[in-house]
Amino acid sequence: MKIHEYQAKEILQKYGVVTPKGIACFNVDEAVDAARQLGGDVWVVKAQIYAGGRGKGGGVKVAKSLDEVRQRAGEILNMRLITHQTGVEGQVVRRLFIEQGVQIEKEFYVGMVVDRGRQRVCLMASSEGGMEIEKVAAETPEKIHKVFIDPIAGLREQEAQDIALKIGMPAQSLPQAVTLLQGLYQAFDESDASLLEINPLALTAEKQVIALDAKMNFDDNALFRRPEIVALRDLDEEDPVEIEASKHELSYIPLDGNIGCLVNGAGLAMATMDIIKLSGGEPANFLDV
Ligand code: ADP
Ligand code: MG
Repeated sequence: MKIHEYQAKEILQKYGVVTPKGIACFNVDEAVDAARQLGGDVWVVKAQIYAGGRGKGGGVKVAKSLDEVRQRAGEILNMRLITHQTGVEGQVVRRLFIEQGVQIEKEFYVGMVVDRGRQRVCLMASSEGGMEIEKVAAETPEKIHKVFIDPIAGLREQEAQDIALKIGMPAQSLPQAVTLLQGLYQAFDESDASLLEINPLALTAEKQVIALDAKMNFDDNALFRRPEIVALRDLDEEDPVEIEASKHELSYIPLDGNIGCLVNGAGLAMATMDIIKLSGGEPANFLDV
């Protein structure tokens, strides 16, 4: 299950992760009120959809006056935002997040995923944060550093400090970076997350370490014990066919082909899809009943 950026930031704040102050809203008047309430003179108007790459798609805009907040919010709300993660049909923006604008000195990348092969959570970090991390992974993978976290010990202070040093965090910001990384791991662990990504993790002009973006996905098989996470679900962002299937506890993934599959068991469903493909056909779906 996925959640919005502003919801992920609310969870992370409880674990001591510093983020800019922000307020979620549903219309342009609320957006202007939010900016006024936040104060300051620079705000960022951010589309809230379940896909990344919003900045490049025109879904993240800086505003330097309340009038500009109104204008930007009007442009972004209800737009069909197309990013490399939404597919060509894009996603309609129904929620906005108004955040205080931060003066960025440097952008880092931090991510966590479950590494099934190693049976551990893998912490990844890079000096090359910002909007091009996919390119870094493809072209200069040596710039992505990893720690495989011991599930009993958790993320040790020394490990957090080592990886922060490797990505070039300045000495004076190390204690803050360690607190943030340990907070991220604790949040990941205690909410049964399957993915957590902070891109960018910013270093401000005042050498403050602050999470500017946040993405969290959760393990569907653990949702039964996480009612507080289930409550965050935004059905507008999900495929109606998948919502219907999940009501019946079926695992259903629509695909592009024209041969429907109704299969008993995930392994057999995978094998059936392989056979169809091998014979030159295209499955219309994965369905494990
Ligand atoms: P996405 O990853 O979907 O493009 P981000 O939240 O990462 O969305 O925003 C895109 C870029 O906008 C960031 O890389 C960062 O440079 C900038 N940005 C985001 N939030 C803020 C903020 N509160 N203050 C200043 N710049 C920001
Ligand atoms: Mg981002």
